[in-house]
This record gives sequence, C-alpha cells and structure tokens, in this order.
Amino acid sequence: MNISTSHQHSIDSFMSGLIRRNPGEIEFQQAVQEVVSYIIPYIEDKPLYKEMQILERLCEPDRIVIFRVCWEDDKGNIRTQRGYRVQHNNSIGPYKGGLRFHHSVNQSILKFLAFEQTFKNSLTSLPMGGGKGGSDFNPKDKSSNEVMRFCQSFMTELSRYIGPNIDVPAGDIGVGAREIGYMFGQHKRLTNEFTGILTGKGLEYGGSPIRVEATGYGAVYMMEEMLKLQNQGLEGKTCLISGSGNVAQYAAEKCIQLGGKVVTLSDSSGFIHDPEGINEEKLAYIVDLKTNKRARISEYAVHYGVEYYPDQRPWKIPADIAFPCATQNEINAQDATALVNNGCIAIAEGANMPTEIDAIRVFQKAGILFAPSKAANAGGVAISGLEMSQNSGRITWKEQDLQNRLHELMRDIHDQCVEYGRESKNKVDYLKGANIAGFTKVANAMLAYGVV
Ligand code: NDP
Repeated sequence: MNISTSHQHSIDSFMSGLIRRNPGEIEFQQAVQEVVSYIIPYIEDKPLYKEMQILERLCEPDRIVIFRVCWEDDKGNIRTQRGYRVQHNNSIGPYKGGLRFHHSVNQSILKFLAFEQTFKNSLTSLPMGGGKGGSDFNPKDKSSNEVMRFCQSFMTELSRYIGPNIDVPAGDIGVGAREIGYMFGQHKRLTNEFTGILTGKGLEYGGSPIRVEATGYGAVYMMEEMLKLQNQGLEGKTCLISGSGNVAQYAAEKCIQLGGKVVTLSDSSGFIHDPEGINEEKLAYIVDLKTNKRARISEYAVHYGVEYYPDQRPWKIPADIAFPCATQNEINAQDATALVNNGCIAIAEGANMPTEIDAIRVFQKAGILFAPSKAANAGGVAISGLEMSQNSGRITWKEQDLQNRLHELMRDIHDQCVEYGRESKNKVDYLKGANIAGFTKVANAMLAYGVV
C-alpha cells in the first residue's frame, strides 16, 4: 500500500482529531486508522463526501447506551456489571451486530466492533446498519443459573433500546445459543410479544438454519475464492486456526470438508498442534469439549497425545494458510513475520480485527493474500439478516437454500473486494476493496438524508 505524502498528512490530521476526541480508546482508534487510510485517498476527488463531512460523521456513533446490570450469584451475593449498546449507524437498515460477554469488554472495544460492523453489513448488500454491545460479565466461570439470571437482568434494560425495526443484536464471544435463549425468553416475557429481536436463536423458536455455521463457513468460502483467482484450492493445504469457539469450529469443519489439513486450534490458555490433522471425529471431540463441557483445549492434547503450548498462539507452526478466529489483535508483526517466513500464502480473518496494523503491513509487503474481517467473517451477519427476513415473513427457509445463499453472498463479497481493490490481473488489495466497497453504500445513503 503506497500512500502519498499529502494523503498521509490528511490521514495524520484526521487521526489526531479523532484521538483527541476518543482518548485512550486504542482499539477504536486502530479500527478507524485502518479504514481512513484507504478512504481518505479514495474521496480525494469526490468533494461532496468531504463537503458533507461523511467520514467525520461516520466515525461518531449515533449513540451509546451504558447501563447497570445487577444480578445475584449462587451464594446470594449481589453482583454489579456494566452493560453497553453502541448504535453506530442505521443509514442502510436497523442497527445489527452481536453482544459480547467477556471480562475485557469496554467502550473502546465495542466502538471498534460497531464501527467495523457498519462496513461489514454494507458489504453483505442486505439492509442492516451497524451496532455492537455486551458486558464485562464473564460467563466462563459461572453456573448456568447464574448466566440465566445475568442474561435476564441484562435484557430487562436492553429491551428499552432494541426492536425488529430498530436494533437486532446477535451473539459474539461468550454469547452463544444458551445466552441468546435466556435473553430472548426474557424479552418475550417482558413484552408479551414473540418477535425477531435477536438473531442466532434456536431453530425451535425462530432461528435460521446454518446461522451457527455461517461465520466459519463463510471465512473458508472467502479463502476459496481468493485462492481460485490464483488458480489454487484448499485441497492438501495445511491450515492454522486459532480459537475453538463458534467461528473456529465451523471454519475447521469447512476446511476439512474441502480437503484442507487443520493442524491447530487454541483457546485463551494456549494452543494444540496435531501434525496428523484434526479430522471430523477429533473435531467432534473439541466441539463437545468446548461447547458442552466448557473445558480447556489442553484436554485434547492429553486425549490424543499431541503437543500443547500453554500461553502461546499458533502462528509459529509452518503452514500454507491461517485463519485467526479467536479475538482482536492476536497476530502481531513478529507472528506475521513467522507466518511469512514459514511459507504462508493466505490469511482470512474469522475473528474481528485479529491482525495488528504492523502485521498487516508485513503481509502486504510479502504479497500475501489477506482477507480482512469485515469481508471474511461477514457470512454470519448475512445469515442473521436472512433470519430477520424469515422472522418478518413468519417462515423458515430450507437449509440447502440458505447454504447456497451463503456461498453466493461470500462470492459476491469477494467480487466487490476485487472490483475496488484490483491492482493488476491477479493482484488484489482485499483490505482496500473491502473498505471502499463497504464505505460507498453507507456514505451514499448518508448523502441522501442530508445533514442528520
Ligand atoms: P466464542 O466465544 O464462541 O469463542 C471465542 C474463542 O476465542 C474461544 O476459543 C476463546 O477461548 C478464544 N478467546 C477469547 N478471547 C481470547 C483471548 N483474549 N486470547 C486468546 N483466545 C481468546 O466466540 P466466537 O467464535 O463467536 O467469536 C470469535 C471471534 O469471531 C470474535 O472476534 C468475534 O467478534 C468474531 N465474530 C463472531 C461471529 C459469530 O457469528 N459468532 C461473527 C463475526 C465475527 P476460551 O474458551 O478460553 O474463552
């Protein structure tokens, strides 16, 4: 990526204002920096965007709601948590984006996620704005009853701000089928209405087929499309995957189905390396371990007699392809250099912003295929968008139809990245393509509304 001196000056001046207005919010600043470094040069010869201050307005959330969440633990102690909903931008549809329950949650992380979500949702071509929310509640060491009481209390407050035409949250880290069930149940109880206010619901009560698989599968489809443009495929490629939650599990499943050899998975305590490859049977063991037993990935190493690396990430293992699917900033420049030196040819981000900016520059310099999260993991929210459509129409579509739609949506996102990011016949800057394609639709809708 080459930026001229005058563009760099505009980017630096924009960022210094943003940093001044959002002090200490490093994740939010990082996400904005990545986007504006492409958008500022792009709008250089488009004066209307500048005149109407579209970029400045896009970097300011519509609103942020912060609330207290009190609940009682199993010992009868009263606990107090902080809840958030960042309603970032609803220019192209109701706010849409997940809820994260993790001890690290703060305003900066949710603002970065909501900002990214706005561009991602635009890339899906579905009518969804961007939002994100959550709490610093950590469901990991809690009983199911404690999680239920927390979710009910959280929804009691959140219910004031959401609705099928206003804001439709979904899951994210720490919020899976169990938590969505508790929250949906509480909303139904509070309002006496059965309505599509959350996505990622169980199939029995308004959920969509393939929602759970969609993010992981979609990231692999994106990878497949990038490889196809280079006349390559996943067959026989060694793949590193980080995480072992929803996104990682289904990225692994699709990789295996397409002939890839998945050799790592991880959790927040460390990673396992299985040089023989994780097959379907071993993956079923992991799904049971992480989803049902809520145990540690290290147990896989004991069970199958493979190496476990505590407190480490998998990027030093030689491989062709990497799918970071755990959390933000899990690949730094050193990790990126190790991947490049070991012959890695492509990365698709299953997690949101897992690659630090310096690490992205390492990949770009090495000419590695790099699909950023707003494109690569958009499959999940796309199927959530289709869950909203099914709920509005009170119908359920067939699984095969949705499988086809997901594949088609990911091909379309890939093609939009190529349209805006092509540098030569086979060379595409996917980061540039995703940022510009995502920006254009939202920006044009904002222009249409005038100054609001
Ligand atoms: P899960 O909670 O199901 O899984 C998260 C996984 O990441 C777990 O293995 C967890 O380990 C690990 N993890 C969490 N925090 C850290 C950390 N600080 N360091 C190392 N590992 C960590 O979440 P999802 O799979 O749903 O989400 C993963 C990523 O994908 C997130 O970035 C999320 O925003 C993104 N995403 C998710 C979508 C979805 O549909 N679910 C849609 C689009 C993006 P442990 O078990 O120890 O907690």
